[in-house]
Amino acid sequence: MLLIDGSEGEGGGQIVRSSLSLALMTGTPVRIDNIRAKRTKPGLMRQHLTAVLAAAELGRAELKGAALGSSRLTFVPKQKVEGGNFKFRIGTAGSTMLVLQTVLPPLLLAREPSQIILEGGTHNPLAPPFEFVQRSFAPLIAKMGATIDLKLIRPGFFPAGGGRCEVSIKPATSLGPLTLLERGKLQSQHARAMVANLPLKIAERECLRVTQSLNWEARCGHAGAWEQSHSPGNALFAELEFEHVTEVCSALGERGKPADHVADEVVAAVTRYFSTDAPVGEYLADQLLLPLGLGAHFGTGGGAFRTGPLSEHSLTHINLLQQFLHINIETKDAGGGSVIVEVQR
Ligand code: AMP
Repeated sequence: MLLIDGSEGEGGGQIVRSSLSLALMTGTPVRIDNIRAKRTKPGLMRQHLTAVLAAAELGRAELKGAALGSSRLTFVPKQKVEGGNFKFRIGTAGSTMLVLQTVLPPLLLAREPSQIILEGGTHNPLAPPFEFVQRSFAPLIAKMGATIDLKLIRPGFFPAGGGRCEVSIKPATSLGPLTLLERGKLQSQHARAMVANLPLKIAERECLRVTQSLNWEARCGHAGAWEQSHSPGNALFAELEFEHVTEVCSALGERGKPADHVADEVVAAVTRYFSTDAPVGEYLADQLLLPLGLGAHFGTGGGAFRTGPLSEHSLTHINLLQQFLHINIETKDAGGGSVIVEVQR
């Protein structure tokens, strides 16, 4: 049994989610101690528990410690993951995208295609928003040979949740190599502000502030409304589409937070992305490591990407991947504040 210390490095939920994906893919029994020890509310929250149960369903795994608040989990997978139809309901506003992050890797390499319905939050703080997975992450996985098609049926926000999305996965027999060292030419840049059950004026103000602060033409801002949300919500995105990569910078509105602050967060994220010329942003970096690692471990994939300074999330993830997979991950300074990460067998 592989023992994983959940308090290492960044000490958050990613250690749990990735351990589950990797245990499923390698057939490794795993025990995770000190779960989310570095978070203000440690242990398994509803969203992590949904991820644990989802992973267990995929691999008919035996579980010990799968309960809310639990700080120790034993997960023993009993079968290879097949594709199929799945429905995962979080029951709160917990992030559907983080549950997806857990089940996606094994389903990308399953024998059969999959259809997944996810219910809960779709736009959560400290998690990839739906649009990031759809516009930034999924196209890169497509370059590795597996396709992920995502549909947002309705958004879900804290605290009501109630969002719903549908995901179709066409798996690959192995994940091919990916090399992402340059952005290529800028194809388009625009801001999109969305409101649900709130005045459109909020979205319009956010667009105006983003386009003005970044010196973009006003026509680069689009304000829109989501229908059918169970609760009020607001999300703002700046999408930077390059030849080889698309970056999605985002911020969420919340009660008492002025629209201008939401806009300024996105402006700061865009400015940060443009402070180096590395194609892979901070969040995409930690999320690309796992598919690259699986490609290298199981086949002739793997590869390299260039990113800004590595986050604690990425460093922790590199360490975790090397505990499960026979791979070598090297990082080297590429100048101008950027780093090349190489993932090889
Ligand atoms: P953890 O904090 O360990 O639960 O992991 C959070 C995950 O969410 C990591 O994979 C981050 O890359 C991802 N994430 C957090 N914020 C964003 C964001 N604004 N855009 C995209 N991904 C994000």
